[in-house]
Amino acid sequence: MPTATTTTAVAAEAARRRTFAVISHPDAGKSTITEALALHAHVIGEAGAVHGKAGRRGVVSDWMAMEQQRGISITSAVLQFAYRDLIINLLDTPGHADFSEDTYRVLTAVDCAVMLLDAAKGLEPQTLKLFEVCRARQIPVITFINKWDRPGQEPLALLDEIEQRIKLRPTPITWPVGIAGEFHGVIDRRAGEMTAFHRTPGGATAAVEEQLDPHQAAQRYGEDWRRAVEELDLLALTGADHDQAAFTAAVATPVLFGAAVANFGVRQLLDVLATHAPAPQARPDAEGQPRSVDAPFAGFVFKIQANMNKAHRDQVAFVRVCSGRFTRGMTAIHAGTGRPFATKYAQQMFGADRETIDEAYPGDVVGLVNATALGIGDTLYDGRAVAFPPLPSFVPEHFAVLRAADTSTYKRFKRGVEQLDAEGVVQVLRNDRRGEQAPVLAAVGPMQFEVAMARLDAEFGVTTGLEHLPYELARRTDRASEERLRGVAGAEVFTRVRDGALLALFTNGWRLRAIGDSSPGLTLDPLPAAG
Ligand code: GDP
Repeated sequence: MPTATTTTAVAAEAARRRTFAVISHPDAGKSTITEALALHAHVIGEAGAVHGKAGRRGVVSDWMAMEQQRGISITSAVLQFAYRDLIINLLDTPGHADFSEDTYRVLTAVDCAVMLLDAAKGLEPQTLKLFEVCRARQIPVITFINKWDRPGQEPLALLDEIEQRIKLRPTPITWPVGIAGEFHGVIDRRAGEMTAFHRTPGGATAAVEEQLDPHQAAQRYGEDWRRAVEELDLLALTGADHDQAAFTAAVATPVLFGAAVANFGVRQLLDVLATHAPAPQARPDAEGQPRSVDAPFAGFVFKIQANMNKAHRDQVAFVRVCSGRFTRGMTAIHAGTGRPFATKYAQQMFGADRETIDEAYPGDVVGLVNATALGIGDTLYDGRAVAFPPLPSFVPEHFAVLRAADTSTYKRFKRGVEQLDAEGVVQVLRNDRRGEQAPVLAAVGPMQFEVAMARLDAEFGVTTGLEHLPYELARRTDRASEERLRGVAGAEVFTRVRDGALLALFTNGWRLRAIGDSSPGLTLDPLPAAG
């Protein structure tokens, strides 16, 4: 039994954790700001999270050749750093739209999100998609308007866009002095002081900051300062002040302005994370009962990744710690099976180097190596039993039959497909008509197919062929309806391997309605969307 002292110590450790992810459209500057944050703070460990682009310094992960070729981030990992007396965990989200399912899982493991916008572009499609996931999960969002060193939109217009399009009340913490493209610094709205930013050569280290009182700022920046003050007066009239309750209830968003590439505004972002972002809270279990952070250890798997590093061919389960103290070597119980799970190989650091982790607290992420017994969404616990809610599957919209090009490789093909299914890279569907050798892959976006095929090739030595199926819609059905749908044109029923669900696929909405109209009483339920 944990003693009173240890539970207090655990609560104190939880209180100094901030666990968040950056959500953004590709090219808004996520990699750049990740590096800038790590530079300002002190990096403790990284899990290949920073995907430096060609020509720029970065902790480049080489997990997937494809990822490098495309210059996008497909895999996710964690970066941990210390700032003031806090431990900050930054979980990387894949940048491509097709990986929303993976991103969604990452967002189940954070307590807060930073929405990164390009000052010239405002809200972009992928930002909106990711924001919807945050909204569905009621994740508090901090907005960072990036690239202020380049010509962009008016700051008030950007705030208006946030308010109108995503119905989140923007409450700026800082305000830019100088139009986008001529960025002098920011006003701290509460203190009324200005922080002037000065570039350091190459932007390689933290920006040089200079504190100016309003008088000094007015003297130096004249018209730009007056304009900023006027805009602030307008803001004050609309009551756009930081409201902690509205922020944590995910109805208001603190807004900051900066330029990640020059490290402008990055310290201010860290300060807002430190001061306002929520620390880990009691997490509700599958029955809705909260498990307090100082209860004995419990956590859930939000991501599984195999073959992350060619030198270590194994499977890693990423566990978000929700309660208690995790210590390496402890034996936890796997909620699904009730079996003990030894955590001998707990690690925090991947990519080129690995580092063993000895303990972790709520908000932290632990990588469990050789964790083949664990699946996505599984709970591990110590002490009083708990099971956190399972992670939902996304509604697939693309379907294709996958086959091994050479039947002699079938065994490896089968193993590979099982692996990809376990990791949730794609959903795997089967039915008797198509048989064992022709599984159907279901995806939210078609790029998931490419990833699956590239990995089967690179990791299992299997060349595969893909035959796209004409289906676009999936509905949940049952055995009785499956019988009735047999032989109906434009429809086909499959079993989803991951959870045994029966899915009826249709070529389009018109076909679905026509079939429903001509055969009343069929069970065709929409699949639960994310949220
Ligand atoms: P990601 O795709 O969101 O990870 O974006 P990156 O961090 O790779 O940035 C995309 C491009 O925008 C790169 O060329 C960066 O150098 C550039 N960039 C990032 N932040 C800023 C910024 O604050 N100002 C300017 N001018 N460029 C930036």
